[in-house]
Amino acid sequence: MKEFGYQRAFDVSGAVALLDADPDARVLGGGTNLVDLMKTGVERPARLVDVRELPLDKIELTDDGGLRIGATVTNSDLAVHPEVRRRYPALTQAVLAGASGQLRNMATVGGNLLQRTRCGYFADVTKPCNKRVPGSGCPAIEGEHHNHAILGASEHCVATHPSDMGVALTAFDAVVTYETADGPGELPLTEFYLPVGDTPHLETALPPGALITGVTLPPAPVTVLSRYRKVRERASYAFAIGSIAAALDVRDGVVRDVRLAFGAVASRPWRARAAERVLTGAPADAATFAAAADAELAAAEPLPHNAYKVTLMRNLVVAVLTELTEESTR
Ligand SMILES: Cc1cc2nc3c(=O)[nH]c(=O)nc-3n(C[C@H](O)[C@H](O)[C@H](O)COP(=O)(O)OP(=O)(O)OC[C@H]3O[C@@H](n4cnc5c(N)ncnc54)[C@H](O)[C@@H]3O)c2cc1C
Ligand code: SF4
Repeated sequence: MKEFGYQRAFDVSGAVALLDADPDARVLGGGTNLVDLMKTGVERPARLVDVRELPLDKIELTDDGGLRIGATVTNSDLAVHPEVRRRYPALTQAVLAGASGQLRNMATVGGNLLQRTRCGYFADVTKPCNKRVPGSGCPAIEGEHHNHAILGASEHCVATHPSDMGVALTAFDAVVTYETADGPGELPLTEFYLPVGDTPHLETALPPGALITGVTLPPAPVTVLSRYRKVRERASYAFAIGSIAAALDVRDGVVRDVRLAFGAVASRPWRARAAERVLTGAPADAATFAAAADAELAAAEPLPHNAYKVTLMRNLVVAVLTELTEESTR
């Protein structure tokens, strides 16, 4: 591992000043992704700025009835928070579907959103990879890609974003707040991750040296009836091969409101807006749910070994929306 400096920050302005002073500094959250990548040489920061003593570990109600989640809140604390469980149950389910108890005790909200792809070529510094070394190529397209993207990818990179939490946050219109030396800023999660295009190494719209300070969830009654469903290759301790976060409001057999996002199918948590348009105002039945899934997946461009994800996602949409409809009429 390359030698690196380590500093612990105790206030936000101090952390931002440390990041601003050194372009090769990285924020250290729980370290559950960054330190692994440092050991393999994928990440080679000159300095780590440990942010876990910052006063960003609270979950608070906002004035308009939403929730403000601090960037250093651990995955474990987020999952069990009573207001998260009551008002955004799919978020609790998504977090608990990720990693293991030990990892969730360390992992932070900011770090979860910025964790890197699990593409095997990205993690192996002996292989070419456009995301790690721009212009070196993408061996996944001709090689191992069974868990790669079917939506929004490009000829330069077909990696997926591995976060479960981010899928629920995307469905629920979360906004990321950050701080830089030039002041504060915010980004809706749907605009936080950049399109892949020919620059897969540029992953987010965060300015250089930005410290994520938190995530704000707006109030939305529809989220109370919500679900996260994750499909993986073994029952626990595995990343998704496809997932869905859904919230549904059905009255008199008609979809009044809906939120839908997909995981493990794109370089970012994928907000399924085309499906939402089909669903809103339509009868809440299996035919509508299948039509909504088809509308979203019409843009899918699968590779030879991941075409199964199109069927998988279609089935997930129909199954989860059917379950939520049944639950809403109980
Ligand atoms: C074996 C294993 C299984 C896993 N399974 C899953 C799974 O099923 N689902 C899932 O979603 N995740 C899974 N994970 C990933 C895990 O959730 C992430 O490693 C974790 O959420 C990252 O959080 P962290 O705080 O440890 O981030 P770190 O490792 O500390 O940081 C990750 C990145 O975020 C940056 N960063 C951290 N905090 C901030 C901030 N406040 N501002 C700006 N930048 C910041 C760091 O600089 C780094 O680039 C798994 C991990 C492992 C090791
Ligand atoms: S899919 Fe992306 S991360 Fe994987 S090898 Fe290709 S460029 Fe690298």
